Amino acid sequence: MSDKRTEIGEIGEFGLIDRLHEKIKVRHADTLKGIGDDAAVLDAGDKVKVVTTDLLLEGVHFDLSYAPLHHLGFKAVAVNISDIAAMNAIPKQITVSIALSNRFAVEAVEALYAGINAAAEHYNIDVVGGDTTSSRSGLVISITAIGEVEKGKEVYRSGAKENDIVCVTGDLGGALMGLQVLEREKEVFMANPNMQPQLEKYTLVTGRQLKPDARMDIIHELRELGVVPTAMLDVSDGLASELFHICKQSKVGVTIYEDKLPIDKQTYDTAVEFNIDPITCVLNGGEDYELVFTIDQNDFSKLEKHPDVHFIGHITKAESGKFMVTKSETAVELKAQGWVHFPEGGKSS
Ligand SMILES: [Mg+2]
Repeated sequence: MSDKRTEIGEIGEFGLIDRLHEKIKVRHADTLKGIGDDAAVLDAGDKVKVVTTDLLLEGVHFDLSYAPLHHLGFKAVAVNISDIAAMNAIPKQITVSIALSNRFAVEAVEALYAGINAAAEHYNIDVVGGDTTSSRSGLVISITAIGEVEKGKEVYRSGAKENDIVCVTGDLGGALMGLQVLEREKEVFMANPNMQPQLEKYTLVTGRQLKPDARMDIIHELRELGVVPTAMLDVSDGLASELFHICKQSKVGVTIYEDKLPIDKQTYDTAVEFNIDPITCVLNGGEDYELVFTIDQNDFSKLEKHPDVHFIGHITKAESGKFMVTKSETAVELKAQGWVHFPEGGKSS
């Protein structure tokens, strides 16, 4: 090891992953895809298995002063299932590892597990193992999820091609605004504990932050409609950041249209109230766990009438760059500003 010291901030999280990745060798032929997508892909005969893992740390990814343990347990599972969905696979099993301090009573751990079990039921998966250990500081939850899909139907980030249509599910930016509301109400409460949080107006956005749902419903519907996306990711770091991953790995460009971007009225109104540009919120707000995917033009008619799939743009040649056409018909260059969960926070793919 050399004496040179490089700050992580200098190269960023994705830079760090790239740097570590360079030193990793794939040794087995059945490792079809290692690091670099939403999940790893392993050969399993006429199917492939997909594997993904996520680490959630108290104070970085969640704040127990407003995240109920039941919701946190559900969310910890959902964010992993979202990565399985992003590979076009069906989740089957998870392992759950937690580290906790004696600050937590047995009942608190049971509440966390009740959320994990509710998610296991919701996504039809088995909890097959894990580890429990003590922590000197906060709560740590690590979940690994395993899914499967018929070989050839798995979807990578690298398959988008020119003229493909860019689709996004649901609506975006809600989780970011939910976090803003929860942080504000926490500050108000800390300043004056007699003040009750004012959350009634914001149930949609706070729900998007506290208890996101992975879009397995869309994966099942795509199967029924006979559509296999050409590329797909889940929106964990923000739409712009996810589009950058598709462009980089598929070696293409993209044009999206501001007036096509889906935003809920409550997200829009909350953004305005917080003096945040609603479009910035849609492009850079993370943790929505919706799906962004590209389809061949021939599949458009199969999805055209889907009430929850929005067509936001198309794939171009790499040389054409990455642009958003605004409502006033000006093309502005897209910037991939991934959402940092908390000021010191890490991001997950
Ligand atoms: Mg992902």
